[in-house]
Amino acid sequence: MNLQLIVATSNQHKVQEIASFLGSEARCRAMSDLGHPPSVLEDADTFRGNAVKKCLSLANYLRTNTELWTGLFERGEIGVLADDSGLEVDVLGGAPGIHSARFAHMDAAGQRGNAPDQANNEKLLGLMTGIPEERRGAQFRCVLALAWLGEGLVVAEPLVFEGICRGRILPGCVGKGGFGYDPLFVPVGFDRTFSELGSDVKNTLSHRAKALSGLREHLRLRSRTRTC
Ligand code: IMP
Repeated sequence: MNLQLIVATSNQHKVQEIASFLGSEARCRAMSDLGHPPSVLEDADTFRGNAVKKCLSLANYLRTNTELWTGLFERGEIGVLADDSGLEVDVLGGAPGIHSARFAHMDAAGQRGNAPDQANNEKLLGLMTGIPEERRGAQFRCVLALAWLGEGLVVAEPLVFEGICRGRILPGCVGKGGFGYDPLFVPVGFDRTFSELGSDVKNTLSHRAKALSGLREHLRLRSRTRTC
């Protein structure tokens, strides 16, 4: 059975990363291939809440605008996939959490939307000044939400896949690769940051890789069940 996913992002890089992780289990398309769906306000207070909200919002939009996507896909099942992710620091009670992308803009007057990575990293380092190594524990979390556009296009409650990667925050940035908080984060079992380790190593242990492994397993089982 052909499984196809519409990924609720306009970020082609994210779609390619998901597509290459899922390999032959599913074909992926960005929602931006389907025109300009309404943007979703990520105002839930958990990663899960935001991922589910984005997923259901796009799925319901597609349900009522079938002309946007019928014809774009081969015969088979079509799912809508959304994600949310970020960094949770133990000593900060889980901050920046759902505010990871806009952390440095949260208390800056007149600043809205996402902040540059460097500003977010500097804010985090400032808040953690003087905290000893044994209290610098943190984790990245990724939540994926998947809804199948079922028969008659009834959208069911999304399935949720979650991944966590534990590590610690360094007192300064190290390494040039990656994005976001990568130069500050050393995963458990390593002595180098995500920036230094690079994407090949990161993709074997990251929060996103763990959530995507759960999704890939679900897709495997689903295509096996549907073909026999
Ligand atoms: P999004 O879920 O892709 O929008 O990511 C939200 C924010 O969390 C990003 O802007 C980054 O600041 C942070 N983040 C999420 N995943 C990672 C990662 O793998 N490395 C570094 N930062 C990340």
